Amino acid sequence: MKRIHNFSAGPAVLPLEVLQEVQKDLVDYKGKGLSVMEMSHRSKDYQEIFDVAVNTMKRLLNVGDDYSVLFLGGGASTQFYMLPLNLCPEDKVANYINTGEWAGKAYKEALKIGKQAHLAATSEDKKFSYLPKSFELSENPAYLHYCTNNTIYGTEYHKDLEVPKDVLLVADMSSDFLSRPVDGNKYGLIYAGAQKNIGPAGATAVVIRRDLIERMNKNLPTMMAYKTHIDKDSMFNTPPTFPVYVIGLVLQWIEKQGLENVLLNNQKKAAYIYDAIDNSGGFYKGTVEKEDRSLMNITFRLPSEELEAQFIDEAKKAGMNNLKGHRSVGGCRASTYNSLPLESTKALGEFMDDFQKKNG
Ligand SMILES: *Cc1c(COP(=O)(O)O)cnc(C)c1O
Repeated sequence: MKRIHNFSAGPAVLPLEVLQEVQKDLVDYKGKGLSVMEMSHRSKDYQEIFDVAVNTMKRLLNVGDDYSVLFLGGGASTQFYMLPLNLCPEDKVANYINTGEWAGKAYKEALKIGKQAHLAATSEDKKFSYLPKSFELSENPAYLHYCTNNTIYGTEYHKDLEVPKDVLLVADMSSDFLSRPVDGNKYGLIYAGAQKNIGPAGATAVVIRRDLIERMNKNLPTMMAYKTHIDKDSMFNTPPTFPVYVIGLVLQWIEKQGLENVLLNNQKKAAYIYDAIDNSGGFYKGTVEKEDRSLMNITFRLPSEELEAQFIDEAKKAGMNNLKGHRSVGGCRASTYNSLPLESTKALGEFMDDFQKKNG
């Protein structure tokens, strides 16, 4: 078996142990005589699988029964409008920090559905190459939304954002979800598409404080209302059953290590690549402020687009795939999510040194 070093931004690498466990149980799940894909979502066996995913996530986020964990379809992108639909009433203002493509889309979506929305801070002035160090809320904020890791630009908040006690904090954690210890209790709502850090595509985790039900818009189409899904423990309709099963396995894999260790490992992994950049005398150029560098998506440029194309091509031949930057920004990007092994970033760091020697 040969596995590539997979630096894809998403869908992304999964832990080998998890894939092997899925494989072992694929056609006959633990002697039940059927695949998880073939189970009724109402069956006892599936309910156990589902509960493992929910409860492991709650433990990892340190939240209790005052929170609900939902697994919804539609991707993180659907949350861009579900959030304001549910939690921004007419007389309030949805607040956003704009730190990149996804954060900006969330803001625009609130405007699109006719909500009052306010940019509390933005780093657009310098092409999102840094994180704003302060923000200014509007009057009557419904909530403050921010994106903890900017997948395309390569910046990341390394601590939970501090907000006044009465301000509802909401985060899109899609691309650094559970990559470090997080206190879930600081958040009213967290959402994350699974396919970056916790599983395959097809499910979006939404962690939501249950008392917010009181504030929710009561006149929404059934499927658009968080309350529908909270009331039925994410089983109002058929949930993405197979992705949730795999997510449960990935979350247990994370819990076994502990989030502190996951963070240490992610720091160690990213250092191989950032060191190659910083020791290159300017051959490789990081695209963001050092203090805001992401541990999950490492973005850099080479002296010319021709060299970038050559770099990506030769890396691929050496077994390192998906190093092309997002089509909107160009350059190179190595995504180094939880499941990417240390050997992969070590290999890339060495490849970068070597490539520079030959072409610098
Ligand atoms: C990928 C990504 C999204 C979009 O996720 P989909 O599941 O494709 O809708 C949203 N936010 C962030 C931060 C992302 O990285």
